[in-house]
Amino acid sequence: MKPLRKKLVEKLKNRLGEKELELLENAIDFAEKSHNGQKRKSGEPFIKHPLRVAYTLTKYKLDLNTIVSAVLHDTVEDCSVPLEEIKIKFGPEVAFLVQSLTKISSFKYKEPQKDIFLEKESFRNMILAMAKDLRVILIKLADRLDNAKTFWALEENKKNQKAKETLEIYAPLAYRLGMTDIGAKLEDLSFPYVFKEEYKETKKIVGNHREELENYLKELVPVLEKKLKENKLFLFKIKFRAKHLYSIWRKLQKEEMDIKRVYDLVALRIVLKKTEDCYLALGIIHGLWKPVPGRFKDYIALPKPNGYRSLHTSVFA
Ligand code: MN
Repeated sequence: MKPLRKKLVEKLKNRLGEKELELLENAIDFAEKSHNGQKRKSGEPFIKHPLRVAYTLTKYKLDLNTIVSAVLHDTVEDCSVPLEEIKIKFGPEVAFLVQSLTKISSFKYKEPQKDIFLEKESFRNMILAMAKDLRVILIKLADRLDNAKTFWALEENKKNQKAKETLEIYAPLAYRLGMTDIGAKLEDLSFPYVFKEEYKETKKIVGNHREELENYLKELVPVLEKKLKENKLFLFKIKFRAKHLYSIWRKLQKEEMDIKRVYDLVALRIVLKKTEDCYLALGIIHGLWKPVPGRFKDYIALPKPNGYRSLHTSVFA
């Protein structure tokens, strides 16, 4: 239990004042006390769950009240801690966030599975509207991500229901808010429970294609870096992105299950300092390797609805 707590505190230490740090420590103490003796379905001590949820959220540079609410998010629902106590100890804002989270899960619990599927769009919108504060959704998504990792521990009928809900409701919400890494993880964690056979088949088709391509791509990086430097382009960072399994499966369905036709199995994400530099880099890349016709997309000039901005291209290499 201790390492997780330490990890969380240490991650935030630098950006917190003395008072704030004390608030965080108090929240963890309070959660530890409230969940004392409780176990998760997976068998581990319950407290690990809220601490992990809070830790996930540290990656998004959110305010302290969000982190504190994440630490406390299951105390009202699972430990019958009165909301008033949270309010007195941690303030009205934290109490509001915890209350909203409690409301969302009680609401979802009553919803029969069939309706979730029939009205998933309105269900998603209802969650968004109910939350009033986007931080509630962010905590909820981190919460679901952690729960999804232990879907295996649920009863048979619950497994499928929760995984479906994750795939249909929460993953799209994550994408809509621009938390694409969480969206992708939610999809891949739910995929084997919702589409058992398709999951197995996709795994078989993908095989080690991704690894092979990634190794090849790694050899190209120095070539690209050299060329960018020659053109005085300041490279902020360069990252590999391997397409996640669920997304490959959706693509495969459109491509007659031919893995060779999934062009973006692996990709490079090149981050530059200035917007203009992106266009310059694109020209350099197309000079090095021929672009695949019809694959270029300018999301800088035409950002995605969630604000995502970048240039996409596929090249023959
Ligand atoms: Mn939870």
